[in-house]
Amino acid sequence: MNDDCIFCKIIAGTIAATFVHQDDEVVAIADINPQAPTHVLIIPRRHIPTALDLQARDASLVGRIHEVAHRIARERHLENGFRVVVNNGPGAGQTVYHLHFHLLGGRPMRWPPG
Ligand code: 5GP
Ligand code: ZN
Repeated sequence: MNDDCIFCKIIAGTIAATFVHQDDEVVAIADINPQAPTHVLIIPRRHIPTALDLQARDASLVGRIHEVAHRIARERHLENGFRVVVNNGPGAGQTVYHLHFHLLGGRPMRWPPG
C-alpha cells in the first residue's frame, strides 16, 4: 500500500470505483474516463509502479492479469477485436504510477495508436 497512490486507495476501499473483478492478486475496475465502450483497468493489488518494475517472479501475476482481461473480453463479446495496453512512463502517457493494463473494446480501433 502506497499512501499517495489512487489505485492503492481504490483497492483498499477508501476511494470508490466500479469493480468488475476481484481476486487475491488482481482487481478490475471501470475506467473513470472511458476511451471506448469497454474500458476496464486490470490492476495488481500489489503496488508495482511501472511495467519495468516487473520481475521474473511476477510471471504468474502477469498471466493472471491477461486471464482476467480475456475473461472480461469474452463476457462482453469482444472476440472480434479488443486491446490490452500498458502505458509505460510519461512519454507513453502513463499518469497513474501503479501498474495497470487497459482493456479497450467495443469500437473500431486504428493502428498505429496515437
Ligand atoms: P494511464 O494514463 O496511467 O495509463 O491510465 C490511468 C487511467 O486511470 C486513465 O485512463 C484514467 O482515466 C484512470 N483513472 C484515473 N483516476 C481514476 C479513478 O479515480 N478511478 C478510476 N476508475 N479510474 C481512474
Ligand atoms: Zn498503488
